[in-house]
Amino acid sequence: MRKNYFVKLVNYMKNVYQIDHGLNQLSDGRVNPTYCTGQVILPVLFGFLLRIKSFNELNFMIKNYEFTKLFPRGTKLPQIDAIRDTLKVLDLEGLKQVNQNVVKTAVENKVFDNGTIDGYTVAAIDGTKFFGSNKKSCPECLKNTKGNKIHSFHSGAVISIVGKGPKLVIGFEMYRPGEDSASKDEGELNVVKRLLSSTMKSQKRLMDVVVYDTLACNSVWINHCRNLGIDTIVRAKNNNNKSLRSARKKTNKSKVVNVWEDEKGFEKVEVYESTFTMDNVDQPLRFVKFAMKHKDKKRTQLMIVTTSMDMAHKTLFKIIRARWDIENSIFNNLKSECGLEHCFVHGGKAVEAVLNLIIIASNLMQLFLVRRLRNQLTTQREMVRLLLKGLYLMKYKEELVFSSS
Ligand SMILES: [Zn+2]
Repeated sequence: MRKNYFVKLVNYMKNVYQIDHGLNQLSDGRVNPTYCTGQVILPVLFGFLLRIKSFNELNFMIKNYEFTKLFPRGTKLPQIDAIRDTLKVLDLEGLKQVNQNVVKTAVENKVFDNGTIDGYTVAAIDGTKFFGSNKKSCPECLKNTKGNKIHSFHSGAVISIVGKGPKLVIGFEMYRPGEDSASKDEGELNVVKRLLSSTMKSQKRLMDVVVYDTLACNSVWINHCRNLGIDTIVRAKNNNNKSLRSARKKTNKSKVVNVWEDEKGFEKVEVYESTFTMDNVDQPLRFVKFAMKHKDKKRTQLMIVTTSMDMAHKTLFKIIRARWDIENSIFNNLKSECGLEHCFVHGGKAVEAVLNLIIIASNLMQLFLVRRLRNQLTTQREMVRLLLKGLYLMKYKEELVFSSS
């Protein structure tokens, strides 16, 4: 069997996900362009698959003919300025569609048929900042002033699958200045509501439950999920909301409903639960408290509110803990390995275009690692090293064409 991982990845992208087809259908707003959109976008996508840290690095790879074998003989690749200009006017809907199709194909290929946690397919949401810079900015940037320095950044929310299997990023939604409240929690909740609505529309039967943090522990979020027909689990908030406060009291006074000894990483976990009604929410909800005794005798607790009236305690516990996946693995991975923190290019549609390409690259890599390589490789860094080696070998030996346009 051939061991060129780069060739394997390219074939996987083409044969299973028809990425070449999706990219060839993209258009953009340039007048009389020298290069077609797919020709401009493909090197960027490969750049992100190879974890480039800057556009200079990408420019160097293009000038060094690293990608020539991906195109028909004689194809001239664009310079980095043409890439930047194209990203600013790119057809974002088309690009989003490419990611939606990757996710849909994964679903059709039964990737999530057994769920990701105890039979449920679980999605987690989190807000994040990206493309922060003290130098570059655009009119859509949010700004923070520290002393005489102005820090510009973008902000948004991401929804990803957590638990077993490939941790796919299903979608993201940007914060819109002027439309979304400047108050942190209210603004983020607004963005996240939009995100869940659009995700439920595009990926109808994918998710069973969505998990999110304390800022969503309110009737606005819970009713939104109910209306969209999806269950939710949120961390319970310690605040002055009367119905929550009394639910908490009631739960604290209740008898233990479940005890687990030697549960992964803990000496003991005790579960308390009560049913309650939240102001402005019609149906009853569950309030569940997990009191954990750690191996070092330290005690902590985790409280949640959920719309699911029949989910087992252990499943709830696994899901709320998997929520940290999105911060600990997916976001950190996107941020440190895929340059989410690096400010690639601002202006026009560039920020969202780059974000989409990073997500597509991350999803394809996740699927390739889990589905094709069956997790034989331990780290993504190892994968990137092997891909670069494959790319190098291909440059001198093998004939391979990715895009035929
Ligand atoms: Zn900006």
